[in-house]
Amino acid sequence: MTMPSFCLIVEDDPFQCKLLTHQLQQLDVPQVETCSSAEELLKMIDTGRHVNLLILDINLPGMDGIEVLRHLADRNYAGELLLVSGEDESMLTTAARLARAHGLKILGQVSKPVSPKNLSNLLNSQCSSLEPKFRVSPKFYTPEEVAKAIADKELTGFYQPKVKVDDRKVVGAEYLVRWQHPEDGLVLPDQFVFAAEAGGIISELTTAIFADALEQLKRWQAKGLNLKVAVNVSMSDLCTHSFADQVFEMCEKRGVKAEDLVLEVTESRLEHNITNALEVLGRLRLRHFRLSIDDFGTGHSSLARLRDLPFDELKIDRSFTHRAWEDPRRLAIYESSLDMARRLGMQVVAEGVEDEEDWQFLQDNDCHMAQGYYISCPLPPEEFTRWMQSWHAS
Ligand SMILES: [Mg+2]
Repeated sequence: MTMPSFCLIVEDDPFQCKLLTHQLQQLDVPQVETCSSAEELLKMIDTGRHVNLLILDINLPGMDGIEVLRHLADRNYAGELLLVSGEDESMLTTAARLARAHGLKILGQVSKPVSPKNLSNLLNSQCSSLEPKFRVSPKFYTPEEVAKAIADKELTGFYQPKVKVDDRKVVGAEYLVRWQHPEDGLVLPDQFVFAAEAGGIISELTTAIFADALEQLKRWQAKGLNLKVAVNVSMSDLCTHSFADQVFEMCEKRGVKAEDLVLEVTESRLEHNITNALEVLGRLRLRHFRLSIDDFGTGHSSLARLRDLPFDELKIDRSFTHRAWEDPRRLAIYESSLDMARRLGMQVVAEGVEDEEDWQFLQDNDCHMAQGYYISCPLPPEEFTRWMQSWHAS
């Protein structure tokens, strides 16, 4: 493990300063300095001092620790940040979220008094998630380039498993589109779906995705694998009347049963043509296609959608699942979503299950399915089947 070479403590309480300095020295941090205000900290940064780790009390006299985050971001502060507070945990969480939104690297957050064990754990946790933030802007593509990629069959699906919480059984996979670009390598959907929408070729993209996903589903079924495949659709996909008929036709042509296809519906912005989307989804549901409400809790009107549509499945967004066991706010939202789904007779998928603790947490409540990096990242189809064998064997 490598300890930060220069650590600066910003804390107005002299006793806390001494205590932290001592603890850091015990952990072999070579250089520790302290200052008692945000103004002093900024002055230090302005003189070009290179700080590796900043331990910041968010309750400071004068400029507070929340405001100082913006000033650090403006100065492109590139070191790590550890937030400390005597306030309740939710205040720290808010500050940490804000810091991340500013692109600052957060090592962690701790309530006072900081225990030596806590501090040592945090300093030791400098893992890949703390790699310097990816600051280079990704490349974006034109609608023409996307149209060509569709025609040249360069789009491919990665599959992220959904597993049952009680017996670990793999029950399905979510199709996540990738573009295998001949020069740029693997391109993520954020970099090209927007172009498809703007260029009016979203239905071509959707058709290509469905065709790919359905063919993979057939291949798996031919091997005796009983999986459901989930495809993401946005409310704007659903604005065309013909969408439901297209899905019926594509499935019929390949002999895919409606109940093996899950449509994960997201609502990432305010949609205009809700009536049309309701008709399309209603018709799909009538034919027994499974409807899933995706990223639940983050859209604009998830509750209204839940009221209007007979969804079969609810996916609790990652931001409410991951580490819900230690954050009372996330926990409250997570549990309410779970309870609501149960009352509405829906299956629940917890997204963002990223570590052993998240997985353990799910065992203690009635969540049906889980998805996330603890189980597996999205995989190409060949790797998916290999992964499945080892998951079931372990
Ligand atoms: Mg999804």
